[in-house]
Amino acid sequence: MDDQLQKLITAIHAHQPTADTDVVELAYDFAARAHDGQQRLSGEPYFSHPYNAAMILAELNTSPDIIAAALLHDVPEESAVTIEEIRKEFGDDVAFLVEGVTKVGKVKYRGVERYIENLRKMFIAMAVDLRVVIIRFADRLDNLRTLHVHPREKQLRIAQESLEIYAPIANRLGMGEFKSRIEDAAFKYVLPDEYSWVTHLAIKPRAAQEKYLKKVEKQLVEELRRQGFTDFTVSGRVKHWYSLYLKLLRYDRDITRIYDLVALRVIVPTVQDCYRALGTIHQLWAPLPGRIKDYIAQPKTNGYQSLHTTVVTADKREVEFQIRTREMHQQAEYGVAAHWHYDEKGKQAFRAPKNMRWVQELATWQKEIEENQQHLERLKVDVLKDRIFVFTPKGDVIELPEGSTPVDFAYAIHSDIGDRCSRAYVNDVIVNLDHKLKSGDIIEVLIDKNRKGPSPDWLQFVKSSHARNRIRAATRAERDSFFSKWVSKA
Ligand code: MN
Repeated sequence: MDDQLQKLITAIHAHQPTADTDVVELAYDFAARAHDGQQRLSGEPYFSHPYNAAMILAELNTSPDIIAAALLHDVPEESAVTIEEIRKEFGDDVAFLVEGVTKVGKVKYRGVERYIENLRKMFIAMAVDLRVVIIRFADRLDNLRTLHVHPREKQLRIAQESLEIYAPIANRLGMGEFKSRIEDAAFKYVLPDEYSWVTHLAIKPRAAQEKYLKKVEKQLVEELRRQGFTDFTVSGRVKHWYSLYLKLLRYDRDITRIYDLVALRVIVPTVQDCYRALGTIHQLWAPLPGRIKDYIAQPKTNGYQSLHTTVVTADKREVEFQIRTREMHQQAEYGVAAHWHYDEKGKQAFRAPKNMRWVQELATWQKEIEENQQHLERLKVDVLKDRIFVFTPKGDVIELPEGSTPVDFAYAIHSDIGDRCSRAYVNDVIVNLDHKLKSGDIIEVLIDKNRKGPSPDWLQFVKSSHARNRIRAATRAERDSFFSKWVSKA
């Protein structure tokens, strides 16, 4: 086994000592061979890219299947090896993940706004399996690392897209670690002047705060011990550049008003301990009114939980604390990604068939992860809103209500196409006009030029109000003209 592979396996076993890594070893050899001789623009061997993406995922504690798919993610696009060969070698599940990642990457570039809108929707469509999105994040993070080799225009496009799409989605999924890393990597390309301004501005005050907090930390550790805490950690958390930049904009660009360049984070075993630790902190230092936030009792919509407080120390300095359990910490850093490494049973639950909708998957998770029930319920409501996302043959994304049919699709493209649609293909297979579409379907509608207008029967099955209104209007117009003819004749 070579050194690189050994490092990857070690990273997996650091989190999951008993994980079966056969699939990872196999994927490593397979992808290394497929990319053999290829180079990235940076001059590195091509394989270093999927390898780095896999490494990011191993460190985030994801399952061997996801890591294997990350190793393979560029094979169908960048080598002669096909997805079918991957399927033969690794099975449906890994092939499905690789295919999903490839699909997300394939959205064509046609003007910034449309592209961004398409990508956003694509992400939601691909969320029939969140593992695909996670791999795509790791892919993107590694691409951001080597962005400097590209021309300015491409740098800007990729960085902007990262800031506008990837980071907010990561945030929505509660993946704070991904969000911050993506933001900081993209920030310096999107706003280079602001980036150097923030980093230069913050470097000294941040070092000063770090030094001061060492004192505070020591005091707190002693007090926690005295109060009988044994199993806890207190550590400094440095504010990320991009979130610092946004905060500076809200504070008149005045860095002296920002007290949480560095904050202290306390991690304890139980929820009860969180509240006890909060009490300990408030006994040592007076809390600032209005700054105590209980995100344990009232989690943020992305599932984030912690207690926050800001206190004034004897030196009249403000210090911010975050208090949480280990589970809350995992959730805050990795969000939904934190739930994959559970165990054989949990893993089984994610072997969803290709057409399984995210809603159903969430329902499965719900059974698996009792303590997060509310969080998942919220995600479901928030992210999906009973919509499906389907594609034109050219890769444009069309958003429709759940249960929509090819007729709804045709009307969403253009009223004339709706009025005259006669046949429909879904994923290259001919279907009836009342066929129920699923997220991710590619739809082609054929029109009959001689057709006068829609059939009133379509009202029995269309779902979108646009199609319904249009059909009603058109059939009413026809009826009216029929009556007017009839009346004038009479
Ligand atoms: Mn890639």
